[in-house]
Amino acid sequence: MTAYDPNNIFAKIIRGVLPCERVFEDEHTLAFMDIMPQGDGHVLVVAKSASRNLLDADPAVLGPLMVTVQRLAKGVKAAFGADGVTIMQFNESSAGQTVFHIHVHVIPRWNDVPLRGHTGEMADPELLRTQADKIRRTIGFVGFTG
Ligand code: AMP
Repeated sequence: MTAYDPNNIFAKIIRGVLPCERVFEDEHTLAFMDIMPQGDGHVLVVAKSASRNLLDADPAVLGPLMVTVQRLAKGVKAAFGADGVTIMQFNESSAGQTVFHIHVHVIPRWNDVPLRGHTGEMADPELLRTQADKIRRTIGFVGFTG
């Protein structure tokens, strides 16, 4: 497997070098709005560890990652009155992965509303901010200072 690149986009977001619309953070994970959402309220949950994906991740990272995935799944469902939530996670390019830092997609779903394409159109930043506000309020996230 190709080595982990510490300068990938999500590593830079975790380091604070690149911006994101953050909706949750703790010691192990960071969650923010996907800039090319496949549905309204599409969130990415990123582990703060140096792994490309599930295949090279330290198993100890996976528990805290899924805890945050569950928190955001419940959060986006409640925030947007969704009918369900799709969880997706891709490993290597052949499987559709485009950013090589371990992350999980959390996408609210409504009956009869299909997903938009993967890495399709860029969302309006103002819309993402409004949606992120809704999620932050719903899950009670006010910031992380660790
Ligand atoms: P994957 O194909 O699973 O690696 O997903 C990467 C996701 O990251 C895609 O859904 C992209 O829309 C999203 N993405 C790429 N760059 C950024 C960024 N700077 N901020 C937020 N999301 C991003």
